[in-house]
Amino acid sequence: MTQDVEMQLEMDRARETMQFERFYEDGSSSISPITLHVIHAPEVQPHSSYEACAPIQRSVFHGDDSDAMPFMPFADEPEFDAHDYAQFYGSFAWEQDYDPDLEIIVLEAAHRLRNLHDISFQRIDESVLLPFTLLSKDGRTGLLEMSRSRDLLKWPGFTATHHSLQAASEPAAHDLRTRLKGAISLFCPNLSCVQPWCSVHVEPYPIPNPKEPDPKLTRKGFIKVAGKPCGDDCFVNNQDSPPDILWTETDLETFKVIFEVTPDTMPCDLAVLCRKPCREVFHQRNVILQSPAEPVPDSAKRKLRPRALEFSDIDANKFTPNKPCHHDGPCDSLSRCNCFLNKAHCQRNCHCTLKCGRRWRGCRCATSKAHGSCVSDKCACYIAHRECDPELCLKCKCKLTGLLDSTNNICQNSQIQRGHSKGLDVKEGTWGLGTFITEPAKEGDLIAEYVGEIIYEATTESRQDVAKYRGRNYLFGLNDTLSLDSTYVGNAARFINHCADTSGSLSNCRACVRLVNDEHRIGIYAMQDIKAGDEILINYGPSFFLDNNGNKSVMLSQQ
Ligand SMILES: [Zn+2]
Ligand SMILES: [Zn+2]
Ligand SMILES: [Zn+2]
Ligand SMILES: [Zn+2]
Ligand SMILES: [Zn+2]
Ligand SMILES: [Zn+2]
Ligand SMILES: [Zn+2]
Repeated sequence: MTQDVEMQLEMDRARETMQFERFYEDGSSSISPITLHVIHAPEVQPHSSYEACAPIQRSVFHGDDSDAMPFMPFADEPEFDAHDYAQFYGSFAWEQDYDPDLEIIVLEAAHRLRNLHDISFQRIDESVLLPFTLLSKDGRTGLLEMSRSRDLLKWPGFTATHHSLQAASEPAAHDLRTRLKGAISLFCPNLSCVQPWCSVHVEPYPIPNPKEPDPKLTRKGFIKVAGKPCGDDCFVNNQDSPPDILWTETDLETFKVIFEVTPDTMPCDLAVLCRKPCREVFHQRNVILQSPAEPVPDSAKRKLRPRALEFSDIDANKFTPNKPCHHDGPCDSLSRCNCFLNKAHCQRNCHCTLKCGRRWRGCRCATSKAHGSCVSDKCACYIAHRECDPELCLKCKCKLTGLLDSTNNICQNSQIQRGHSKGLDVKEGTWGLGTFITEPAKEGDLIAEYVGEIIYEATTESRQDVAKYRGRNYLFGLNDTLSLDSTYVGNAARFINHCADTSGSLSNCRACVRLVNDEHRIGIYAMQDIKAGDEILINYGPSFFLDNNGNKSVMLSQQ
């Protein structure tokens, strides 16, 4: 038999068979039928339309979308005004020759220029030598920040690491102070984060001033806490007779740095950190404390004038937070203090003294056995739409975390920062996908935090255009500068449906913006007791549904 040269399959649906035909080189052909086993599958309905969304726990700072449009949405739908949408962008991404490895090459080049030729990143940026800006400036994120959370490639000869790039941003020095500064800069000191590589504060967040030593911690005070001496050399055993101290300058500097960071640490522990005898460490501690304080500059002695104490953040929902201030002298116009200029209260991480008159003082509410605190107009934090501050509001127990949360007699105005939300399930409801609660909730309970990408105004506008056309809007206004968009990343809260509070169905929750550790966050709160299994519904209000100009939606309840 000659070789097969061609085959053909033909299906006969009516007789549920298939014809298998072979063609041979000599022009002949043969047909063999194949009986099919036909399964009639039930008709599958298409899933209701949705947007792919990556799940996140906390909001992610995004800033602005790229000025180069990555693709044209709804390109084959003539109703979408592509021309109008294109106005938001400066160029098309597909016209740019983008090479994803280029960033890595630039990082390595910058790293070598810095390390081998001692050219600072700032000077490299000024020279416009490289195709990317390295340092963040004017709200634009630089390549160094941008690539902090990406993996660097391991190419032969590649020398840059995240740590070395970070260290290279600082002046070259290997002393403890500089190394500590480098390590701390990776760590977000905002009380909501206290973690490295936080997703919200992409640009370095200011660190508060080091703590002043507690004057009560004298020898007697320490002995009370210490109990047993740590060894023969312990300060507890050695009352006076200052020992012969043979410390090098590096030893002393190391001690000073550790003491600055943690002045109230037990001398026994300081001794371990400094690798020195305990009694010597205690002696050095006293020497530093007794040495005359640095003269206070005249600018710092200036008193705040009453006019300098005007505030526009009395209602935290009606102002835009600024970065913590950092300047010489008191927080007033002469210092160009940005808290003063924004008429804002000074924040935890401001560099002014703790006595600064502009600082927020928290509330003085106390809890009772019967109910939690800080949810009435008697609470200064609650009226100002701020969550309580665990370092300032000491009596309401907002500092407590963990299991104690389940009791009701602690602060009820700190649920977002404590992450104290309810179990939720996303499933098909009356209006497509909806959010359902899996455990009972009481009035005032936080159901979920609304999380998403934190974006600037310009990006809000371009995304609003798409949201308006799509008919689904996941944008919340946070303040005049920032919005929260959970179109692409978010949690179960993005599926919460609208309820117009008419025709028998009533909303059971509301969305409120709170100032939480100096930044705006959105909580979804129960307006009544809700039982497990109920759908969560919010009346987003008329302004949520975009008007014809695509105006920014704000669906914030002021309570
Ligand atoms: Zn952070
Ligand atoms: Zn200030
Ligand atoms: Zn300040
Ligand atoms: Zn201040
Ligand atoms: Zn309170
Ligand atoms: Zn409070
Ligand atoms: Zn409180």
